Amino acid sequence: MMQANRILKILQELVRIPSQYGNEQQISSWIFDFLAELGYDPHTVEVPDSGPNVVAEFNVDSTQPWILLNSHSDTVEAMRGWTRDPYGERVGDKFYGIGACDMKSGLAVQLAIMEGLLKDECKPKLNVLFTAVTDEELWSRGTVTLIEKEIITAEKVAYAIVGEPHYLGNFLVGRRGRLILDITVHGKAAHGATPKRGVNAINEAARLVQSLESLDVGYMEEFDIEGSKCFLAIHGGVISLSVPETVSLVLDRHYLPTQTSEMVLDAVLEIMKNTELDPSTSVKVNIHPRPTQAPLPFYTPLDNPLVRVAAEEVKLATGIDPRFLLGRTVADSNFIGMLGIPTIDLGPSGKKSHSADEWCDIPSLKQIYQVYQGILTKIS
Ligand SMILES: [Zn+2]
Repeated sequence: MMQANRILKILQELVRIPSQYGNEQQISSWIFDFLAELGYDPHTVEVPDSGPNVVAEFNVDSTQPWILLNSHSDTVEAMRGWTRDPYGERVGDKFYGIGACDMKSGLAVQLAIMEGLLKDECKPKLNVLFTAVTDEELWSRGTVTLIEKEIITAEKVAYAIVGEPHYLGNFLVGRRGRLILDITVHGKAAHGATPKRGVNAINEAARLVQSLESLDVGYMEEFDIEGSKCFLAIHGGVISLSVPETVSLVLDRHYLPTQTSEMVLDAVLEIMKNTELDPSTSVKVNIHPRPTQAPLPFYTPLDNPLVRVAAEEVKLATGIDPRFLLGRTVADSNFIGMLGIPTIDLGPSGKKSHSADEWCDIPSLKQIYQVYQGILTKIS
């Protein structure tokens, strides 16, 4: 029987190793050694500008499909204001540390599951593919590399569980997608003392910002969730007495599984077309460059066996009837879910991800371990 202390011990080891995105070499080799010592035959997969992914397989029957357990081993940077040891401190039922919640807690549970499998703690019907991935907090290059190398494919993987934290009784069956737009506004330069001879790009951009307030971000009743828009940056102008000729805006759009990126882009372009600007103003809209594809929205229908079994197991382990949610922001599960693989995010509880005094709820480690065990035993 897997002891709660054993899972906590794995979590403590993981939190002790700093693993900010881009610096996952040490944690990857710890995970590799952990799996090798258990008796697995793990392998690493190199990821650009990051530590390697670690992959291990538990084979049940080569004619069966796979269930994927995916966790990221990287964390964000150490934030200011820690009052606890950022590399691990236990206080009562809380375990503090960078990544203690997001998501070394989920990684610890998945590693404990891999340990339990070799000790016959549960008998899965499907083969189990475990992946500890890097760079999730930046560009998801770890998971995207596994997809590019066809280690994760829709043909092979029947279900996926990503160990992102959840809040007891709630779990994510999908996520919004994300599109970042660079909007460049060109006016016309002139001497700043005679501004009427030019076209001020700041004024023109302000008109665009104002009219984009009317953008319909959409609403999905099933999960009671809206899309969102947020201007992230504005740059432009000069310090000399000149009418600014260029302003650039960065617009973040998180959008729903009921929308496509084309619809999102078209809606922005449509509003721009109908905004009254000086006839000599030109506006360009580009998708913000990034090293991986923009994450698309996805959701796994509630009648999918993975969601049904996971919900039953959450109820058994916690006594709470789970609520199904869509994640507001993007994660590795987007890249897996958008392949068409039924995917959920399910990990232990905690709070203060990406901030000082991040913590994981220790009792939830064992509860989520039981949920995983139940899912592996029942799903086929
Ligand atoms: Zn995370």
